[in-house]
Parts: sequence; C-alpha cells; structure tokens
Amino acid sequence: MIKNPQLAEYWNKPVSALATIDPAEDDKPLSEALCERHRIYSLTLMAITHHYWNGLKRGRDGDYPWNPDPGSADGKYLRNDYIGHNIAAFAVDKLGFVMDFAFNHNKLMNSSAEHAEARLVRRIFGLNQIHDSWNVTSEANPVLSDYNTFEEVTLYTTLESCSQCSGIMALARVREVVYLQTDPGMYMIGNMLRNLTRGTDLESPYPRPASSFGLEHFGQLDTAFETFTTEVAANPFHIAPNGKKDKSPSLTSFLCTALARDIYAQASVELDAMESALASGGMPLKHPGAHPVDRKGEVVPGGLTNEETLKEALSFRRYAIEKGRRSTPHKL
Ligand SMILES: [Zn+2]
Repeated sequence: MIKNPQLAEYWNKPVSALATIDPAEDDKPLSEALCERHRIYSLTLMAITHHYWNGLKRGRDGDYPWNPDPGSADGKYLRNDYIGHNIAAFAVDKLGFVMDFAFNHNKLMNSSAEHAEARLVRRIFGLNQIHDSWNVTSEANPVLSDYNTFEEVTLYTTLESCSQCSGIMALARVREVVYLQTDPGMYMIGNMLRNLTRGTDLESPYPRPASSFGLEHFGQLDTAFETFTTEVAANPFHIAPNGKKDKSPSLTSFLCTALARDIYAQASVELDAMESALASGGMPLKHPGAHPVDRKGEVVPGGLTNEETLKEALSFRRYAIEKGRRSTPHKL
C-alpha cells in the first residue's frame, strides 16, 4: 500500500509516464510575447557563457582535434587555462529582473557538486539574508515563517538539471527551470521530480525545454552533441603529448568543442544585433509592450515589458562581463 498519493499515481504506470511532463500541465500554448521573453533571457545567458568560454579541458598541452582553430579571434579563450565547464545559470524574478548568475565551478573548487543551479540558489538565499535585519522586535521586520523566496522565480540554465540541482530547486520552490540543452545522462530526473511533487508544498520547478519557445539553438546543441558522441571514438577530444587519447563522449568535453562554441556565438551575435537596433532607435522585438504573467496567468503589476526586459538583459550582460565578481564567473 503506497500512502503517498503522488507516488501511488505512478506506481503501476510505465516509467515513461513518470518521465514525461503532461502536456496539459503547460501554461497553455505559450504566447508569442512570452516566447520572445524566454528568447531574450536565453540568448543573454548564452552570450555570457560564450564570453567566458574556455576549451582546454585537458590543459594547454596536446592537441584538441575538435577545436580546429584555437588561435582565432573568436576562440581567444581556447588557449587559456581551463577554469570551469561552460555551463551557467541565471535567475529572473517575478517582475523580470535578473537576480544573479552562476557558472558551474566543479573545476575551480575541485568538486563534482558545484553545479551552476545549486550555487545560484544558495547564493540568492544568502543575498536575501544580507538585507534581513536581526531586529525581530521591529514591526517592519516580522519573523519569517517560510523560505519561499523563489516561488515566482524562473531559472534559466544552459544544461538540463541533474538530481542535485532539481532537488535544491524544489527545496527553494523555484517556479520554472528553462534549459537550453538536453543532458541524456540525467535520465529526465527533473521531469520525474516534477510529476512526483506537483501540487504539493515541495513542488519541483516546471522543466521547460527551450524548444518549447522555438529556440533553435536547443535542437542544434542536441544534434551537435549526438555528432560528438558518435564520432569521438574515431576523432578523439584530446590527444596528450604522450599519445594518450581522450575518446570519452563526455558532455562537458562536448561543451569545449568549437562545434558547441559556435552555436553559443550565434546567440551572442543575435543579441548584439538587438542591442545595435535599439541603439539606433529601431525596435528588434515584435511585442515590445508585452507584460510578464504570474503562475496563474495574470499580468504582474510593475513587471518589465519585453522592451524593458531586453534592456535589463543587455545591462545584466554588461555587468556580468565587465564586473561580475559577485558570481565568481570564469575569471580569476
Ligand atoms: Zn546539477
């Protein structure tokens, strides 16, 4: 007898039912305006990731057959030391403001658990507490009864979340997680957790593949990763000076290839074009006046319009690239 109703619902169903998000659960077909918002944030995250791109996962020595031209201007980071995987996340609040961003820092911290989403959630909790007073006797500062900081937060991540990050996002009550590439090694854990927690106090974020709002880079990254996994046995990712070949179909290795980098570069170019258009008085958006909606589908008062969202995103990109120390990006 399974007492947990969520688990009971799936107990006698195939795993495929547990791993598939019910299409009826989506916020209805996404409006064009909402697709545009998701696109702006996704391109911004890709552009920041591209700026900090580094490719020499196995160090400076040896050859990287998948990085055919590491000395080119566009690949300026490819001959630098490897600081961390090219995986990043940022969080957007209810009004549409970017809260903060984080990179995966497994490499920098010599750990296998320093994933972007987990680091981001922990830091935002910390940042909120910076502004929290110790003076609980003050009427203006009542004792908080819960920690639902993220209930209206959308988190964007370049890669589908793992079990750790899905769990941490569930604990934080993140509303939705948008991911820009599938990670087949994570066996759809985000979907499963969502199905098992839907409607509970511990609801895991709605996992949204970027394909759902027409981001072509999603399919391009998945296809390119498939090419990499198929061909890496014959064409190694790295050949060490002693001749040792790295033929592992690792996703973080793929994310060091020029194949992946060029897809990120396209996103960056598109964002640059939007910025130029705005600067010259043009309007690169189809729905500049559209407003954000909350999880009930109601317009958020005071929320950023799509035009303001684009300006916010461009401004955040500038911060992340020019300063960005708060988030320990790929920069020492
Ligand atoms: Zn993770």
